[in-house]
Amino acid sequence: MATVDQLVNDSESTAKMLRESVKPLCRFCNTRLQHTFVDLGMSPLCESFLSSTQLNQMEPFYPLHVHVCSNCFLVQLEAYVSPEHIFTDYAYFSSYSDSWLAHAKAYTEQMRNRFSLGNSSLVVEVASNDGYLLQYFVQQGIPVLGIEPAANVAPEAVKKGVTTLVKFFGTETARELTAAGKQADLLLGNNVLAQVPDLNDFVAGMKILLKPQGILTMEFPHLQRLMEENQFDTIYHEHFSYFSSLTAEKIFAAHGLTLFDVEEIPTHGGSLRIYGRHAEDVSKPASARVIELRAREESAGYRRMETYSQFSEQVKETKRKLLEFLIQAKARGKKIAGYGAPGKGNTLLNYCAIRTDFLDYTVDRNPYKHGKFLPGTHIPIYPPEHIRETRPDFLLILPWNLKDEIIKQNAFIREWGGKFVVPIPEVRIHE
Ligand SMILES: [Zn+2]
Repeated sequence: MATVDQLVNDSESTAKMLRESVKPLCRFCNTRLQHTFVDLGMSPLCESFLSSTQLNQMEPFYPLHVHVCSNCFLVQLEAYVSPEHIFTDYAYFSSYSDSWLAHAKAYTEQMRNRFSLGNSSLVVEVASNDGYLLQYFVQQGIPVLGIEPAANVAPEAVKKGVTTLVKFFGTETARELTAAGKQADLLLGNNVLAQVPDLNDFVAGMKILLKPQGILTMEFPHLQRLMEENQFDTIYHEHFSYFSSLTAEKIFAAHGLTLFDVEEIPTHGGSLRIYGRHAEDVSKPASARVIELRAREESAGYRRMETYSQFSEQVKETKRKLLEFLIQAKARGKKIAGYGAPGKGNTLLNYCAIRTDFLDYTVDRNPYKHGKFLPGTHIPIYPPEHIRETRPDFLLILPWNLKDEIIKQNAFIREWGGKFVVPIPEVRIHE
């Protein structure tokens, strides 16, 4: 007969097993995720802007609890919400940022020259949005195909002459296109890899769609920049994965793709542009940049759990400093407005609990957002002209990655002594 002690032990181990079984699995290597990278609490979906009639209704909040895998070190968020829900009516139109358009244009010229693309090539972009990038290939007479799941942005792309397939990308879409005789000489995806819940199916799809001598490039925020520069606000429900070059290399290699070059670029606070090829295509040797970055990440500890576990405390400290600034400014009777309504702003404002008690309003250039309210914090969104009408003392720049562009466009606030505030990596005032 079991003793009381044995029964207690049994029920404790059952409880432990149950707790373990609800922990998510790594989306790349299937290891059970035991380690927290950072827990930003509960937050609404960052692109779910509210109309005034929705303000009195219940609003769904989901956890922003990020894990790091102890086996492959992929930093990741569970897909709490299905991509269908997030991306079918997406409010983000890439073409509303001048600097992002300039970046896209420069990329197309660089690729055309480096890889000798011409009118017999095919350039395929996954998550082609409103055609912000492929339009420049079209202008150069290079055939393109955009693949974009958000039905509301695709018609904008078609207006720019960008043939667009309204679909999610993965092995199924890749097989359909290949069967129809379409394979890519250049296959690209900017800021999409992070947003893919089924990472293995996505990368396997790239392997299928790429011509034998084809090149793929992908841009995504660099985990090292996120950690070193406190960019915790770039964590949101739509971003499922956060990559170092070491982890990206491992994931592509698992699908027969080799990264032969990498560039560190300034977009989105510091991104990587990786260049991949089929593992079988030995015509493209690894560049010195790939080898150097791998060595740098290794020596910075990106293969050790301790490196990841200190991030949480750094984030809490950033929150305390931002609140300290806002409280002091309000105590001095200052008026504070926001600039921009980006996804990252919503993570920051919800995590720090900044509502209209601190920010009177925010503005955005995207007319789709005017008259709406930020999710969770219910801060109203106006057109940029509202700044001149209300003359705030401080303008808190939420898309800090575009701060130079925004400060230049809004230099007129200095007429009444207005100042710019950039919250990340830590509060800084620009007079
Ligand atoms: Zn893993």
